[in-house]
Amino acid sequence: MRAVVTGGAGFIGSHLCERLLAAGHAVVCVDNFLTSSVKNVEHLTDHSRFRLECRDITQGLDVSGPVDAVFHLASPASPVDYLRLPLETMRVGSAGTWNALDLAATKDARFLLSSTSESYGDPQVHPQTESYWGHVNPVGPRSVYDEAKRFSEALTMAYRRHRGVDAKIVRIFNTFGPRMRPDDGRVIPTFIRQALAGAPITVTGDGSQTRSLCYVDDLVDGLTRMLDSDHGGPVNLGNPHEVSVLELARWIIELTGSSSEITLIPRPEDDPERRRPDITAAGELLGWKPTTPVEQGLRDTITDFRSRLNLVDRAKLVHQPATPAPGVVAVS
Ligand code: NAD
Ligand code: UDP
Repeated sequence: MRAVVTGGAGFIGSHLCERLLAAGHAVVCVDNFLTSSVKNVEHLTDHSRFRLECRDITQGLDVSGPVDAVFHLASPASPVDYLRLPLETMRVGSAGTWNALDLAATKDARFLLSSTSESYGDPQVHPQTESYWGHVNPVGPRSVYDEAKRFSEALTMAYRRHRGVDAKIVRIFNTFGPRMRPDDGRVIPTFIRQALAGAPITVTGDGSQTRSLCYVDDLVDGLTRMLDSDHGGPVNLGNPHEVSVLELARWIIELTGSSSEITLIPRPEDDPERRRPDITAAGELLGWKPTTPVEQGLRDTITDFRSRLNLVDRAKLVHQPATPAPGVVAVS
């Protein structure tokens, strides 16, 4: 199979590219490094079946040669990222998704949309099943992401129904693992960075809000199973292991052996109160369930962060802007 992965240099995308290469497939990774670094895929650029194209998919997405599958992952995903990049987020969710679906239609390729648990907004049904329509504030700050993803889902279904594209939707719940940007603002990289620096752990609100945490290897397994299935979805992919943010902070302090204290800061607007996937459909349709214990995933992520963080001043490590690397194809 020759697969295109949009957003392939991102956190999840880079793990997916690795997995596809290991399975013997060819991969075209398309990314503009808006929220990632070329470092995530630098180790793949010498691989004979890997091609890295640096480009913005909202400007068009022509890929020469055959394409059997399009994994569409390009989009800011961290709330901090999409709140500082609202228009880019809406553009990649709309025009970017359109271009990715057009590529799949033109090449007669299968298509997989990486949608999100944010499609459920601040859910009033718990745990969340795929049949739940959600509870989204359409004009709140998070709507740039939530509604872009909901538009992406609607567009994907329209291509499935009206253009005959074998298009599928997964809704991904909070996923973590090695290669997350320490400064991306999401809860796990933030807490690990703070804990390793001995800095205060910034819990929002009283920390009673919950998230359910999935290790990236399990998630990637779910993505490939969904592509290979006959189902269009949407299908939830996530680990039902639900923890409060305060419990998570204490867990990370313990696992890092940190002396950090917990400090309470204000909750962001429209921050969802509870989130846990019902993964019955993924089990029945894909034979999928997560197998990595959250604690093991946290340990592996902490090890990765320790190896990447600047030993002199861990607290100040910031995202490095992308620099061209050997093997990168720049596409205007
Ligand atoms: P990420 O920010 O690490 O990766 C996103 C990638 O998309 C980045 O490499 C970025 O540079 C690229 N990108 C953004 N706009 C682009 C554009 N216009 N053209 C080309 N590339 C572009 O985030 P992630 O956590 O790896 O998320 C990947 C996908 O999974 C996203 O679509 C996200 O919505 C979805 N998702 C992730 C999670 C999670 O917990 N990580 C949860 C739900 C959904
Ligand atoms: N959060 C926190 N401290 C931080 C970053 C996030 O307490 O420094 C909280 C955030 O308010 C939310 C939860 O952790 O309640 C998960 O936030 P994240 O940004 O990881 O993703 P979300 O699930 O909200 O998309």
